[in-house]
Amino acid sequence: MLTVLALCGLLASGVSGAALQAVGVRNALFELGNRPLIIKMFPAVENYQSDLYEVYAEPYTYDLRAISAVAVLQGEGENSVGGEILFLQRHPPTGPVLVKGNLTDLPAGKHGLHIYQSGDLRQGCEKLGAHFNPYLLQHGGPSDPLRHVGDLGNIEAGEDGSVEFNIVDPLLSLGGGPRSVVGRAIVVTSNPDDLGRGGTADSLTTGDSGKPLACGVIAYVR
Ligand SMILES: [Zn+2]
Repeated sequence: MLTVLALCGLLASGVSGAALQAVGVRNALFELGNRPLIIKMFPAVENYQSDLYEVYAEPYTYDLRAISAVAVLQGEGENSVGGEILFLQRHPPTGPVLVKGNLTDLPAGKHGLHIYQSGDLRQGCEKLGAHFNPYLLQHGGPSDPLRHVGDLGNIEAGEDGSVEFNIVDPLLSLGGGPRSVVGRAIVVTSNPDDLGRGGTADSLTTGDSGKPLACGVIAYVR
């Protein structure tokens, strides 16, 4: 109990995630009454550096079974881009999410892949708000320590317009909480994502990645 109180004091005083890492905390589990108190330091994936951390008490009825979701992508306007993107989180709510996609009819080359704030497709892929950004950070690449949670970087279509990809992402969650992406839209864009390094204003919000080519809502698998 003393340890818990000391850590709460550290967090309340605004100590950085890097400082917590320096004192050896990555994923810590404490008993608080009968409920576990979890302090999670990112990375959740090997070789991923981050200053983010979360502290939460596990609710009594948290379902810790694996969660699957799927987005069925449809082309914007005249685009015939299509396919499916599957999401799997083996250890919700904090474990990494596997993102496995298979898309066809894309222009050859690199295209940005982002999750947006909303999943409201009433006006197609155009009016979905901004990139999903619960921590209010700048746009970045998928392995940047600070980024939008929705920033999944680029996928690259071959000459035949198809692409298969497997991404393991440490920030997405399917299990509720601030990083949950279920109910939000995933979008493939016309241009490559410059990962926030383009030096333009758009680079720091969207990676200058152009217009949406296709989008779909991330939904639970039955
Ligand atoms: Zn972004």
